[in-house]
Amino acid sequence: MRLKSFLSSGLFMSGLAAGTSFNSTQPPTGFPPCDALMQAGLEKSILLPTEPSYAARIESYWSLNSRQHPFCIVQPRNAKEVATAMTALLGADSAGDWHIAIRSGGHNSGGANNIDNGVTIDLVHLNEATYDKKTNLASVGPGAKWMDVYAKLAKDDVLVTGGRDGDVGVGGFLLGGGSTFFMGTEGFGCDAVKNYEVVLTNGTIVNANEKAHSDLWLALKGGGSNFGIVTRYDMEALPNKKLAHKVRTINITHAPQIARDFVEFTDNYEKFTNDALVVYLTHNATISKETIVGTIQVNTEGKVNSTGFEKLDEIPDIAPAQYDHITLAEAAAGSQVAGGTWMCEATLTFSNTKGLMKKAISMHERYVRDMKNAIGEENFATMFFFQPMPTMFGDISKRRGGNMIAFDLEEKNAVLWTAGVVVKTNQQDRIHSQSLMNKMTADLKSYSKSIGGATNLVYLNYADTTQDPLGSYGAKNVDYLKGVAKRYDSEGLFQTRFPLGFKISSVGS
Ligand SMILES: Cc1cc2nc3c(=O)[nH]c(=O)nc-3n(C[C@H](O)[C@H](O)[C@H](O)COP(=O)(O)OP(=O)(O)OC[C@H]3O[C@@H](n4cnc5c(N)ncnc54)[C@H](O)[C@@H]3O)c2cc1C
Repeated sequence: MRLKSFLSSGLFMSGLAAGTSFNSTQPPTGFPPCDALMQAGLEKSILLPTEPSYAARIESYWSLNSRQHPFCIVQPRNAKEVATAMTALLGADSAGDWHIAIRSGGHNSGGANNIDNGVTIDLVHLNEATYDKKTNLASVGPGAKWMDVYAKLAKDDVLVTGGRDGDVGVGGFLLGGGSTFFMGTEGFGCDAVKNYEVVLTNGTIVNANEKAHSDLWLALKGGGSNFGIVTRYDMEALPNKKLAHKVRTINITHAPQIARDFVEFTDNYEKFTNDALVVYLTHNATISKETIVGTIQVNTEGKVNSTGFEKLDEIPDIAPAQYDHITLAEAAAGSQVAGGTWMCEATLTFSNTKGLMKKAISMHERYVRDMKNAIGEENFATMFFFQPMPTMFGDISKRRGGNMIAFDLEEKNAVLWTAGVVVKTNQQDRIHSQSLMNKMTADLKSYSKSIGGATNLVYLNYADTTQDPLGSYGAKNVDYLKGVAKRYDSEGLFQTRFPLGFKISSVGS
């Protein structure tokens, strides 16, 4: 018997408290939180496991890590409905062991955006991207994907400083900070946010900006999912423009030169602030038996052959690469890492030195060897990224009102290192791969410490669940975040009923 007819047959008793009448036109689901959503009038916004659209929505999560199966998925259509869902879920009988998850783009690779035992609030319909010429603000919904945001805003000839991979969502990206092509002039993505619309656990909707709820505004800039559900980001817009954009592949034998040139680029960033550089190492046996080095070289003013890349461009390509003149929308649409696999991820920052870059490169080779022995060469692909993190990014953030991340960029130029691995087999192999990755990350951290090259920041958007990005913000910022969380959610419900992601209440406990 299909679940719906089973439920309506009356053979199934719902989880409603005895004597409670059920007012919805739909039959009870058997799950108190889903019934509470129905009673609150959100029937039309609920997906039940019996419906094909439910299965399709689970499939749309980027990594397999996230494809869990909640009791039901609620898809509010606006901030008011988010508030209704918030109130209904927090008012439902919380006995037992069920919780609430929030999804925006669904791109988080660690599974912090969905839940088996509980309900997922899916913000897919909050996907606006509109521009107000008078204020020069673009209002962007959390459920939108960056490639769609850029395409919509391009109609008004503006852009915002968001993600580089077009499939990444707005909501999670901006809460973790947001590393973009525009770091050299605009700082982190969150530095462009002038106002956050937030649904708090008491069901009220507030606007947090420099003037109103300014403590919440600052905390949201990198403070993660700790205060409420953000339903709109109002971001300062920039004129739309064509980027000079080039993706290169280079033989691994040139790694020492690349390490040298990356470090020099980062140390001289203030001379070419419109340039953006990402270097990566990839080992994918279906493409090559050897590790390949890739670079993504961008000039946000469309200038080809910027002096920033002069040295790097002396290194020969495997296949000749040219600069394309493309919009951000085109760059994002053309840059989407395929999903549908198990994922492992971890991240660190360390001082911008050739020695540490070379160490990190050699650790990638060691990791590849270990992975070949552990799960077989054909069953995984690596992507280890290096991004400049010079102190000047911190200066830009400070100028724009500050954030929770950039404090660590006060003393020395750093490298943002991110290890990513696609596991093509199963969850067991993923766990094995993650354990090897965590050991490598610990080794790299202790090596950087041993030579005086450690830096604190663990960048939230790339962190593994065992890492402590909020704790890496330092005692002062941790206290600040705890204070803001307490002021806006005095019962700590966002910490306990929405337990996924990095929670400030877990830091230092
Ligand atoms: C291929 C790839 C490329 C990437 N590129 C970049 C990059 O260029 N720069 C960068 O900084 N990061 C990048 N990331 C990391 C990315 O920013 C994070 O995974 C981010 O969390 C994804 O955002 P999302 O909206 O898709 O998040 P989701 O997966 O939907 O959510 C992430 C977390 O945030 C919470 N959350 C989401 N929306 C809200 C909300 N509105 N209110 C409260 N809590 C919320 C969720 O509960 C969850 O814990 C990349 C990741 C991948 C896999």
